[in-house]
Order: sequence, then structure tokens, then C-alpha cells
Amino acid sequence: MRASSTPPVALAIAGTDSGGGAGITADVRAFTACGVHGAVAVAAVTVQNSVGVSGFHPIPPDVVADQIRTVAGDMGVDAAKTGMLASTEIIEAVVAAADEVGIGSRAPFVVDPVAASMHGSPLLAEDALDAVRTELIPRATLVTPNLDEVRLLVGVEVTDDATAREAARALLDLGARAALVKGGHLEGSADVVDLLVTADGVERPYSSPRRDTPHSHGGGDSLASAITAGLARGMALPDAVALGKAYITRAVEHAYPLGAGHGPVSALW
Ligand code: PLP
Repeated sequence: MRASSTPPVALAIAGTDSGGGAGITADVRAFTACGVHGAVAVAAVTVQNSVGVSGFHPIPPDVVADQIRTVAGDMGVDAAKTGMLASTEIIEAVVAAADEVGIGSRAPFVVDPVAASMHGSPLLAEDALDAVRTELIPRATLVTPNLDEVRLLVGVEVTDDATAREAARALLDLGARAALVKGGHLEGSADVVDLLVTADGVERPYSSPRRDTPHSHGGGDSLASAITAGLARGMALPDAVALGKAYITRAVEHAYPLGAGHGPVSALW
């Protein structure tokens, strides 16, 4: 049998979810569904099921950095994304390793500034927000906050198009090359509109019909990872975001109940 050719490599630097809904399991599902090989640098282990997060355990920062260097030194990294990074020390180790291997310069770098789970459990130490602002976001090809994360990072309350634009500009002012402000948590709107604003002048809304479901666990991770897969495949950023939006729309349509709490968005279709 002839071996297949090597696909692009995307690297997720993020936390695990023992329930398999969010975090690195969602990342690797999105990578596979979008046609790239998924590599992982585990930054934290969460003790979690569909009902909630009952514990989180950061990985030693040098072990997180070594995973990044070891993967990059062998197979190369075509694009990377961060999810749950847990602490300032881990963020500092991740950016040092990323700088060494060209993530954020040679390879696109998607920063999903994960702060809390949908149940409200913190996934990032409070004092680490500063490191997200000053270390991570300035290296980002794209930053993908939800509305709660926007409020925490730049203090903007997004209620409409104008405030979404203001929030995106504030994220660009922190040094991101582009921002995708995700409108999914905006109550009352018929559509979910995510607004992409880039430092080189692109401004584009991405709209999909709102689907009210309790089963959306891992949605944010899945969107950011599908975009990362598109970038690993060499797509221009607006096209990679369109791929991400198509993937997450389908994944939410196929979300399934699991356990007693919130089921995950699905790559089973
Ligand atoms: N657990 C981990 C490890 C995550 O990275 C995330 C989100 O990024 C979550 C849980 C929360 O996902 P959700 O908000 O979709 O429940």
C-alpha cells in the first residue's frame, strides 16, 4: 500500500477535557475534519465532564515549552493555536518557545484567550490576564475572544456592530494583527455574527443562523482550531475564518446530548 502524502501540521497548545467535549479533544477533531495533522502541547489537565469542571492542574511550564520545541523540531508546525493556558508562567514559557520556532512569525498563530468554561469555572489565573494582553496578543495572527473575554481584556461591553468594531480595534491596539469578535453570546439576535477586523484594513462580518441548544460545549475551541487548520493549509485569513465558520455551524447543527449536562459540538456527520 502506498503511503499518503503528508498533510500540513497544526499544533494546539491547550488544556485537556476528560469528558472529551472541549479543549484539546475538540481541537484535534477540528484539525482532522479540516484536513490537517493535529499535534498537541498539553498546558493543563482539567477534571471535567458534561456537568462541569471540578479541578484543573497546570503542567510544569518547561514541559509545555518542550512539547512545542520537540514537535516543531521534527515535523514542523504550519500554524498553531492556544486555548486554555492556565497561568502567567505557562504563557511566558509558551511565547519563549513560540518565538524560538517561528510560531507567530513564520507560522500563523491563533490566540483563543480562554478565561472560563461555559459553566463559569475559571480556566486562567486572574493575574494571567496581563500576560495575555502583553505577551500573547502582540504575537497573534488572530485573536478570537467571546464577549466575556472582550470585556475582561479590553473593557468594552459589546452590544451591537459599533461596539464590536470598537472592541476589535482595541485588540489590534494591543498588537494583534487581526481580531475576530464572536457574537455568539449576544442575547436576542436572530443570527450569530462574528466580526473580523484586521490591521491591514479588512472588516468582514460572518453570519450564521442562531441555534438555541444547550449542547455547544467546545464551540469556541472548535472554531479557533478550524481557522488554524485553514491557515496551516495556506489559506488567506478571511478564507480560513470562512472555513472555521462553516465547520462550527455544521458542528453545532450536529451537537449531541451527552451525560447530564451540556453535550459537545460534533464532528460526527
Ligand atoms: N475545558 C477546556 C480545557 C477548554 O479549553 C475550554 C474552552 O476553551 C472549556 C473547557 C470550556 O469550553 P465551553 O466554554 O465550550 O464549555
